[in-house]
Amino acid sequence: MTPLYLIEPERLGEIVPDHPRYRADQLRDWLYRRPVLDPAEMTDLPKDLRRRLVLYPFRVERQQVGDGGATVKWLFRTDDAKDIEAVLMGYPGRATLCLSSQAGCALGCTFCATGQFGFERQLDAGEMVAQVAYAQAYLRSVGVHGASDHLTNIVFMGMGEPLANYRNLREALRRIIEVMGFSARAITVSTVGIVPGIRRLAGEPWPIRLAVSLHAADDELRSRLVPINRRYPLEELVAAADEYARAKRRRLSIEWTLIDGVNDTDDQADRLARIALRLRAHVNLIPLNPTPLSQDRPSPPDRVEEFARRVRSRGVEVTVRDIRGADIDAACGQLRVRSKLPAGRPDH
Ligand code: SAH
Ligand code: SF4
Repeated sequence: MTPLYLIEPERLGEIVPDHPRYRADQLRDWLYRRPVLDPAEMTDLPKDLRRRLVLYPFRVERQQVGDGGATVKWLFRTDDAKDIEAVLMGYPGRATLCLSSQAGCALGCTFCATGQFGFERQLDAGEMVAQVAYAQAYLRSVGVHGASDHLTNIVFMGMGEPLANYRNLREALRRIIEVMGFSARAITVSTVGIVPGIRRLAGEPWPIRLAVSLHAADDELRSRLVPINRRYPLEELVAAADEYARAKRRRLSIEWTLIDGVNDTDDQADRLARIALRLRAHVNLIPLNPTPLSQDRPSPPDRVEEFARRVRSRGVEVTVRDIRGADIDAACGQLRVRSKLPAGRPDH
């Protein structure tokens, strides 16, 4: 049977043709309003139907819990053996899901584990929505230490470049916002800077938050770290991001991964501050998570502090992000890397 999350919500009736009409509505309600981990929990459906149903288009290949129970990371494996990674982060009264939009990524940013392993395939809209549903069901039935019992935020910051999978991203957003009823304002799409995608997203009806992964504030350095910068250089990217912020009246965020001796200089801090002021953006600094295929190291803590201080001194709001799930390699494609490395390194 086709997993139900791969079926357009409006077409669920087609998979239960011998059932009364309201059956499709019941199914849609379970899938999008009250997600469950196991179809056996769909108690108002006939037993024989429940037994036949397959909900998720993947199985849980690995689940790891870190940060004293506040972070859960899943490695989902699809039927065609593609890995999809998602991380659920609990905070007092809140819960944020970081989900994947592609299996792999073609953009090859030098410091990114996903980029180092190349592109496998696009994720279907249903595969993105299923990550949200799974996290929602998990929060309700198992829960995350100290967090809310439902998702409060969704960020497209897992594997892949969401704006390089635009059609499926758009359909996933439609299902999450219009069918699940999730607030568009609580969704962040993170992009490395696909300018036409930013423009298309600006034309959609939803006030989604945009995060721009900048990492370097001049074209020479940025093209080295983020090869797509050669196609969409800084000036074009900043102009498109500015248009987005104005169209949506939403504050942008700029993501900046701090790499020791590479993009953590005073000069980069000053240039970053200029761009952030022009965009009225909030800056998130993230010390690099080392990856196995690169020699790059995170900036030391005192450099991180000095960089943050310097950008702040120009009037920019700066947050140094804590590395959630560091004890379970939760950041940025690292679980997948581990599963691809030769066996022998024990799990935590
Ligand atoms: N492709 C999109 C979204 C996925 S990456 C993008 O690039 O924005 C999500 C975030 O993780 C990005 O800001 C990216 O720069 C950051 N990131 C990637 N590899 C990292 C690493 N090794 N350490 C810290 N942050 C990393
Ligand atoms: Fe792809 Fe984002 Fe990683 Fe760059 S940082 S390779 S765009 S996932």
